[in-house]
Amino acid sequence: MRNRVIAGNWKMNKTLAEAEAFMESVVNDIRLDQHTEAIVCAPFPYLSNMVQIAENSGIKVAAQTMHEEASGAFTGEVSPIMLRDIGVSHVIIGHSERREYFNETDETVNKKVIAAFDHGLAPIVCVGETLAQREANDTNKVVGHQVEQALRGLSRDQVGKTIIAYEPIWAIGTGKTASSEQANEVCAFIRETVARLTTDETAEKVVIQYGGSVKPGNIKELLTQRDIDGALVGGASLEASSFLQLVEAGLQHE
Ligand code: PGA
Repeated sequence: MRNRVIAGNWKMNKTLAEAEAFMESVVNDIRLDQHTEAIVCAPFPYLSNMVQIAENSGIKVAAQTMHEEASGAFTGEVSPIMLRDIGVSHVIIGHSERREYFNETDETVNKKVIAAFDHGLAPIVCVGETLAQREANDTNKVVGHQVEQALRGLSRDQVGKTIIAYEPIWAIGTGKTASSEQANEVCAFIRETVARLTTDETAEKVVIQYGGSVKPGNIKELLTQRDIDGALVGGASLEASSFLQLVEAGLQHE
């Protein structure tokens, strides 16, 4: 049985006081079981504080990006070693906003995924098509290529530990969610792609999240789908009460 993984991506939001209040409230009220994981993806300046507040709660803390090099002359960047050093466990790689505004390419995504594993971080790799690509019936071609490129050079064991987030770009922050069938179709295609690259057994282990306007009101329906194992949530993860409802929805495992 694959774990359910619910991740909240705050993006560039919150003051330190707001971040602390969120985490304190979630630590107090969260209910997790052994098959459900909750991850908070906070901005860099708050990561250390978030790790400290979340200690022993079962809540994991993720960065929203990182540089692929361990150290060096890269002004302004944050390395995987730094993240690991302060107790961060996961890192989002290749979010569509990073690909669009910060020149992240399939090649840098692949380097970052490899670096994450080299330094003991679990990558959450984002893939997804634009509206134009969907309308041109290119969704599988685009997403398949992104998955293939991201996983290049990884061992089967590492592929099995990679979290893949399918986030159709047209559904991010727009209020338009893919229907659960539409989302599952692409998540199933991602799993087939992983099976083709590795083995069926490895593909069955990979946690695949859906992301794009997920809310407490639609998460349950999405999670009933066979190939959707969790959610990467932006807007609806900013309020503690909403994040708690999302995690709660992940608890109903068969
Ligand atoms: P959204 O963002 O839930 O606000 O659509 C999702 C994401 O970008 O990860």
